[in-house]
Amino acid sequence: MLYIMMGFKNHDFNRYGKKFNPVKLTHIKTGSRFQSNCKDTIQPENIMQKLIGVMKLLEVSETDAIKAILNLISPPPPPATRQNWTRLSTFGHSAPTSQDLWAKLEEANFKCQKCRSQMRVSFNHINGNATDHQLSNLEVVCFSCNRKVSKKGTSDMDHHFKIAMAAIELWKELSTFPTLEEIRKRAGVKQIGGATYLLKFIKERLMKKNG
Ligand SMILES: [Zn+2]
Repeated sequence: MLYIMMGFKNHDFNRYGKKFNPVKLTHIKTGSRFQSNCKDTIQPENIMQKLIGVMKLLEVSETDAIKAILNLISPPPPPATRQNWTRLSTFGHSAPTSQDLWAKLEEANFKCQKCRSQMRVSFNHINGNATDHQLSNLEVVCFSCNRKVSKKGTSDMDHHFKIAMAAIELWKELSTFPTLEEIRKRAGVKQIGGATYLLKFIKERLMKKNG
């Protein structure tokens, strides 16, 4: 894992650092080569240890992790966007050329122009008119920011991330799997909702580690 991930530059993980910061992680159960210093709060430079810790707990193979990352950060192929927009009346059955869409992605360095995330980026029509495809009216946004601008609320990905991290953190503190209410409170979310089965899955994985 280390060798593969070394290919990434430090700054690529900085934004994850911001996201991970509020999460307290104690006693990460990592392999001997990656022993954490059991600090109360994970610092950005410990993100790799945290990632490896979570992968071990959830039994994510290195190959699967790389595939998942590639899958989630791949920019949308312009022909697919074109096909989608020309098919739907919402987009006025029209779309910019593939070259123009690609130029837009390049200009944004394939990252969200609001938060710089690379997660599932797509195009947003800035003025809210989904049929106005002038390039000046298009911006590249990640899935979460797209949800925000279209007022669909927090994305499942953000919601599930908070809940999963809260569950793992509490499990480490309590040495037993926390209740749904404990997880909900720690995650700071209104409800567990769609993450119910994600939690059942995490519980199965973690309880195996306990036993
Ligand atoms: Zn964003």
